[in-house]
Amino acid sequence: MTITRRILLLLVSLICAWQAVAARKVVWVIDAGHGGHDVGCEFGYVYEKDICLAVAKEVGRLVKKDLSDVRVEFTRERDRFLSLQQRCDIANQRGAELFISIHVNSAPNPQARGTESFFATNTPTKGRQAGKSELLALLLQKYYLNNGREVSRGVKKRELYVCEHTNMTSVLTEVGFITNTADRTYINSKEGQAELARSIVQSLKEWKSLTASGMVPQRTLRDLRFAYWSPVSKVAEVVNPQAATGKAEPADSQLMADAKAQAEADAKAKAEAEAKAVAEAQAAEAEKAAKAGITVDSTLIAATLTDNTGEEVKPHFAIQLMNTAKPIHDGDPRLKGFKGVRFIAAGERFKGIYSYSESYLDIKNELVGVRETFPEAFIVAFRGNQQITTAEALNALNSKQK
Ligand SMILES: [Zn+2]
Repeated sequence: MTITRRILLLLVSLICAWQAVAARKVVWVIDAGHGGHDVGCEFGYVYEKDICLAVAKEVGRLVKKDLSDVRVEFTRERDRFLSLQQRCDIANQRGAELFISIHVNSAPNPQARGTESFFATNTPTKGRQAGKSELLALLLQKYYLNNGREVSRGVKKRELYVCEHTNMTSVLTEVGFITNTADRTYINSKEGQAELARSIVQSLKEWKSLTASGMVPQRTLRDLRFAYWSPVSKVAEVVNPQAATGKAEPADSQLMADAKAQAEADAKAKAEAEAKAVAEAQAAEAEKAAKAGITVDSTLIAATLTDNTGEEVKPHFAIQLMNTAKPIHDGDPRLKGFKGVRFIAAGERFKGIYSYSESYLDIKNELVGVRETFPEAFIVAFRGNQQITTAEALNALNSKQK
């Protein structure tokens, strides 16, 4: 055998060996929520999509470094838009063993904070796959708490699109609230993101070793359920500075002053974030109108409406979930667990309207969560019972702010 032949043979066998190892790798898909024009929830200049991407990339880096038998696939590695179905397609087509979607939460109440993890309602309850997704969701909450996150909102079973349309272990995890000052500071920092990624990878590793046999250890699952299914809070009740004013003991007065200052700072930050969201949405609506060749009469819009007590009727925002032939009642499977949806007549059909808020930012952030279940949902506006355009409502709000 010539030297060249030997080298060739050696190379061929090396390639074969490498392919054999590569073929044995399982695929984990890491999904950074939102992206591109879909910023996710927002607060001022902080966007959910950026936090999701930073955490997802760090999770991927750690898995690649530590687990040589796992091949990491990202749904996105940069700031680009993907539909929910595209994310599911990636995981299903790659034959992934696991899918984890990383998100950020928001709430109208600035005191809402903490982490939470979701898994699908269509998840199997019998057989080898039973409990795999729930197990991962529980482990995520365990490691967030173990690594210093103070509030866990627990584990929830919910009809989220990406969990329902992927056919493997699949969870969606919310790493904190963009609308809570403490959470926002943490999830938007390099250190916070690195720590969250470490927690996620620790839970992935434990999930991997617990399910190595292909089965879910039912005893462990029960123990984890007992400890981590329900919300856990390690923080003392937040003092309401307004309610406590005057009743404070001298020793507590500094604490009260701090809490009051914090509440004032939070309110100021919220007002700024609201004004920015309204201005941005107004610009977007104006651009849309210009493209469609519509001229908007702003004088009509700014006119205020009063009710029979002389009180001004402010515009409010809501979310249209669906358009149906007949109204649907609470508990109907088509509402996918949503409660308090009201149906208003629109010609021959009915619009299913959900939620209510005078804050555009709050409703915009709420829409983000609603779209995880109803991808086609959108914002609508009303004045009293009368539907108005979003542009009209935004203009009315903006003229008020000036
Ligand atoms: Zn999200």
